[in-house]
Amino acid sequence: MPSTTPTTSAATVPVRPRPAVIVAAGLTKRYGDLVAVDGLDLAIGQGDIVAILGPNGAGKSTTIEMLLGLRTPTRGTIRVFDAEPNAKATRARVGAMLQESHAPETLTVAEAVDLVRHYYPVALSLDDILGRADLLDKRSSRVGQLSGGQQQRLNFALAIAGDPDLLFLDEPTAALDVSARLMFWEQVRGLAAQGKTILFSTHNLAEADALADRVVVISHGRIVADGTPAQIKAT
Ligand code: ADP
Ligand code: MG
Repeated sequence: MPSTTPTTSAATVPVRPRPAVIVAAGLTKRYGDLVAVDGLDLAIGQGDIVAILGPNGAGKSTTIEMLLGLRTPTRGTIRVFDAEPNAKATRARVGAMLQESHAPETLTVAEAVDLVRHYYPVALSLDDILGRADLLDKRSSRVGQLSGGQQQRLNFALAIAGDPDLLFLDEPTAALDVSARLMFWEQVRGLAAQGKTILFSTHNLAEADALADRVVVISHGRIVADGTPAQIKAT
């Protein structure tokens, strides 16, 4: 038998690490002279709930949009589900809620959600999506008539419509009042319990603490701390 053949025995079953869903190395984005994201190295495993915590301008949105393939890095590499962020097979497994996203204003909520559902191979049912986003009573409202908080819930509905394995949420609770925020956190915990991988940004340590099992603190585009919420709170 060739010596390169791996051997296994019951006594030495290796602990298999969870597969990495996102691997970014040396991720950098410049806007002219400004270095918005500065050499970020990040590996996120399947089922991780990770908060990117940082003040306005820290580079959270730029990072998330590069991981989504919406902005081109100046330097560095990104793999999502072991492929380019723009690969069709990757996009089919990813949902996103961005800070600046607008559904067509003249559609009803149900029509907008249906529109997005149809692009995914295995979508959730319309009622399931509307229920999770607390929009069942708004299904016939026009998108352009929703309040800020309702629009944000619609953005969440659109993000989960395709039952994605990986969810990006960029400051998802910014326009929500306290009760809507708590309901939203429950939804995110439910998705986490299903084994989804979730990367969300926030400038609120309490929110990171409430939801994440790992907090990556960024400042001026660099990671300045990376640990459990308890570790981050202690620093
Ligand atoms: P955050 O989401 O943490 O608030 P951003 O990623 O939006 O941070 O922005 C990081 C930095 O990059 C900020 O200084 C911001 O002004 C700048 N920036 C973001 N987008 C652009 C752009 N399209 N052109 C020029 N500068 C930008
Ligand atoms: Mg932002």
